[in-house]
Amino acid sequence: MARIGFIGLGNMGGPMAANLVKAGHAVTAFDVSAERLAAAVDAGATAADSTRAAAAGAELVLTMLPSGREAAAVYGGADGLIAAVQPGTLLVDCSTIDVATARALSAEAAQRGLMLLDAPVSGGVAGAAAATLTFMVGGPAEGFARAEPILKCMGKAVIHAGDAGAGQAAKICNNMILGVSMIAVSEAFVLAERLGLAPEKLFEISSKSSGQCWSLTSYCPVPGPVPSAPSNRDYQPGFTAAMMLKDLRLAQEAAIAGGAATPLGAEAAALYGLFVNAGNAQVDFSGIIRMIRGGAA
Ligand code: NAD
Repeated sequence: MARIGFIGLGNMGGPMAANLVKAGHAVTAFDVSAERLAAAVDAGATAADSTRAAAAGAELVLTMLPSGREAAAVYGGADGLIAAVQPGTLLVDCSTIDVATARALSAEAAQRGLMLLDAPVSGGVAGAAAATLTFMVGGPAEGFARAEPILKCMGKAVIHAGDAGAGQAAKICNNMILGVSMIAVSEAFVLAERLGLAPEKLFEISSKSSGQCWSLTSYCPVPGPVPSAPSNRDYQPGFTAAMMLKDLRLAQEAAIAGGAATPLGAEAAALYGLFVNAGNAQVDFSGIIRMIRGGAA
C-alpha cells in the first residue's frame, strides 16, 4: 500500500482515484470543487483542504488537471507543490498539457532534487472508469520504475516514452493522427454517399483494405458498422470535440516551437475550431462528419 496524494478529481481524476483506492492504496484527495471532492470521499479517499494538505506525507502525488495553466499553478512558484513537498516525493502529472510547461516544471522540480514525471493518458472517461488507460510517461527511468506499479492500477499499458516532456509529445502526436484520420474517414463516407456507395459497403471494403485505421474500425463516424461508436447515440461523447481541439492546438504550438511542418494537423485544428465554434464543443469529435456533410451542426 502506498500513500498517494491525488489532486484534480474531475471526469478522469475521479474514477482514477477510485481505482487506486480499490487497489488498496491510501489516497488523500483535493479538488477546488467541493462536489468532486465529496464524490472521491464516497469512493474511499480521505479529503484534504488544499493541494499542500493532499501532498503532505505522500510518497507519490498525482495530478489530473484541465491544462498547463492549472498544472503550473499547482506545482510551480513559491506557493506550489515543488516548493512544499518532502524530499523523495515523486510527482506525476497525468494532465494533458503543453510540452514546454511540462519540461519547465520538470526542471524546476529537479532543481529541488525532486522528480516530476509527465504521464498523460489515452482511453477517455470509459478507460479511466475501467482502469484500462494507456499512460505515456516522460522523465527519468528511476522515477518511471517507481510510478509504474501505481499507474498500472489505473491502466492497461504504461509506457516510458523518454525524457521530460516525451509523454506529452507522444500524446499530442497520437491525437494529431487521430484528428486528421477522423476527418479523412468522414470525408470518405460523405463522398461515398454522394457516389451512391452504401456506407456498410465502404466499411466492409476499407476495413480490409489500405484505408483501415482506428477512426474507421473502432470509432466509425457513421452509425451501424461499429455498434459501440458514438455515431450510434447521436454523437454523445466519448471524446468531446473541445478536447480534440485542445490537443490539436497543443500539437500546433509544439510544431511551431519545434519548426515541424504539419499542414494536415493545422487544417484539422482549423476544422475542429469551426466545429466547436458552431456550438459543438460537447459533441463527440466524430460528429464532425455532420459539418463535412454540410448539414446542420
Ligand atoms: P475535468 O475538468 O472534468 O477535471 C479537472 C478537475 O480539476 C476539475 O474537477 C477541477 O475542479 C479540478 N481543478 C482545477 N484546478 C484545480 C486546482 N488548482 N486544484 C485542484 N483541483 C483543480 O477534466 P477531465 O476530463 O478530467 O480532464 C483532465 C485532464 O485529462 C485534461 O488535461 C484532459 O485534457 C485530459 N484527458 C481527458 C480525457 C477525457 O476524455 N475527458 C481523455 C484523455 C485526457
